[in-house]
Amino acid sequence: MRAKKNEWLTHEYFRTYRIANAVDTIMRDPFSHLRHLEGLTVNDGIYDFLPHWQKDSALHKFIRYVADEILMNDTDGPTRVPFGPDPVHPDWILPVDAAMLQYGIIDEPLFFIPDEPAPGGTPGSASDASEPNGPYHVVNACYDYLLNLRWTQVYEDLMSRITDEVFYVMFLNRRALANLNQFLSGYVEEVTSDGFNADEASLADLFVRDGELKRVRPTMWARRAVFYRDRGRCTSCGTDLSGLIDTLSVGNYDHMVPLARGGLNDVTNLQLLCENCNSKKSDNIEDPSNRYRRWY
Ligand SMILES: [Zn+2]
Repeated sequence: MRAKKNEWLTHEYFRTYRIANAVDTIMRDPFSHLRHLEGLTVNDGIYDFLPHWQKDSALHKFIRYVADEILMNDTDGPTRVPFGPDPVHPDWILPVDAAMLQYGIIDEPLFFIPDEPAPGGTPGSASDASEPNGPYHVVNACYDYLLNLRWTQVYEDLMSRITDEVFYVMFLNRRALANLNQFLSGYVEEVTSDGFNADEASLADLFVRDGELKRVRPTMWARRAVFYRDRGRCTSCGTDLSGLIDTLSVGNYDHMVPLARGGLNDVTNLQLLCENCNSKKSDNIEDPSNRYRRWY
């Protein structure tokens, strides 16, 4: 069989764990971070999450959002990365450029951090932000660069690489996924069909009633992903379901946050459960199991 496009990833692990950690921390206590999450959830931001079985999953969207925030916050550092052949007098670049270089998205930095004003500077100018050599000119230059960069294809490419990597390491963490889906469910539950404008009319078809999405059979790629992640076993009692791979019923793919409670038809909201455990769970929200089989 011919390998499908995008079946393989090349990881560079540039800040992967740092971003994963930030995503996990926010998901553990989203309500302390609401101000930072507004861009995702206000102004009908939740609508992007509603369509079923998007390969660009809820977690992908969330990672992209957090990674973007982290990279953009380099304006107020700025965090510097040395660049160039001379280790004693390197040029300084921003982490975002370092990342694009590492991923091979660009061949050379797009931006060099300007020199700080000479210590002591021109007397009397130190507090004047509009002065070209004032204390803020470095930060302002970085800010302008990042602001423009955000609209470029290279930045979009970087975001999709980082997002794929962070997703890869986080997808195993069912508790983090459940936290994310639980957070989003509060917004799903508030969606009402009379809130849709003419362009969004098709969204109404996704709902069985206000605040509850229709049950849609998981697509094959979503089932495969969850089956292999959970190693073919019930995540709750460990029953081996692997003999059933071809016959596994849709009922074995449990929505961690039930649809009736605002859950999404999203690959990050699924876990493998045997029929026994699934019928016990019913429409309750329970923490997914945090037991994992050793690799060996
Ligand atoms: Zn079970």
